[in-house]
Amino acid sequence: MSAVPPPASVTRPALVPPCDLPQLLPGWVWLVGAGPGDPGLLTLLAAHGLMQADVVVYDALVDERILGLAPAGAELVYAGKRGGKPSAQQRAITESLIDFAREGRRVLRLKGGDPFVFGRGAEEAVDLTQAGIPFRVVPGITAGIGGLAYAGIPATARDVNTAVTFATGHSADGTVPCTLNWAALAASPVVVFYMAIKHLPQITSNLVAAGRSADTPAAAIAEATTPRQRVVQATLGTLHQAITEAGLEPPAIVVIGDVVSLAPQMMPQNGG
Ligand code: SAH
Repeated sequence: MSAVPPPASVTRPALVPPCDLPQLLPGWVWLVGAGPGDPGLLTLLAAHGLMQADVVVYDALVDERILGLAPAGAELVYAGKRGGKPSAQQRAITESLIDFAREGRRVLRLKGGDPFVFGRGAEEAVDLTQAGIPFRVVPGITAGIGGLAYAGIPATARDVNTAVTFATGHSADGTVPCTLNWAALAASPVVVFYMAIKHLPQITSNLVAAGRSADTPAAAIAEATTPRQRVVQATLGTLHQAITEAGLEPPAIVVIGDVVSLAPQMMPQNGG
């Protein structure tokens, strides 16, 4: 491939933050994805919003250095949902976003990964709309994409898979979701499961019962993209035992499919 330089007369427009980026205005909410862990995976727009926020409402799993982008005087409100009744807490979180916005503050709602991937961002967006609060959604790198990349597992590879499925192993009531279509998941070339560690024996045996080979390559990636990242590689049939022996704990994503076997051939030096 030969690189052809642009003609000298062509001026290349440059992005000039902050002028070329939208402002987080008083009375607005930005629903922002923080990415999976590594602060370097934050988008320019997310960083720009954080630097203007009066109040940041953030979840568990958000790196403190990301919060450190907010102005010194900004209020940081922790809205992690560990323990307690998640739905009641979720209502309280949305109400606080609405209240802050009605006070005329610049509100940044910071969620792990992408706000609209298993992150309840949709519920918050609907509630804000119903309350008449103007908001913007700033996507983030989801754990199922960023975590795979840092583990050297491509989500798709030519000649290996032409589709990839994201699924959750955990429903609102804490059980394996009864709406999962196991036959469809077993037939999907690559499945990336979020929140699957707790119910992994049930998930793997459901997939095998639905026709997926127990020899299918599988991996779990814990605390992906952080300095504590750990990857356990096994097969569908042996993954649960392998992660138990390794003492791997959530948060982790599980990926099942032939792309996992490409990992030993490509070892990115991403840190983690
Ligand atoms: N909105 C988030 C997902 C929230 S659900 C996103 O787009 O990534 C929480 C689940 O995401 C965790 O149980 C785990 O399965 C996954 N997860 C989030 N961050 C992770 C990380 N750094 N490493 C591994 N899994 C992660």
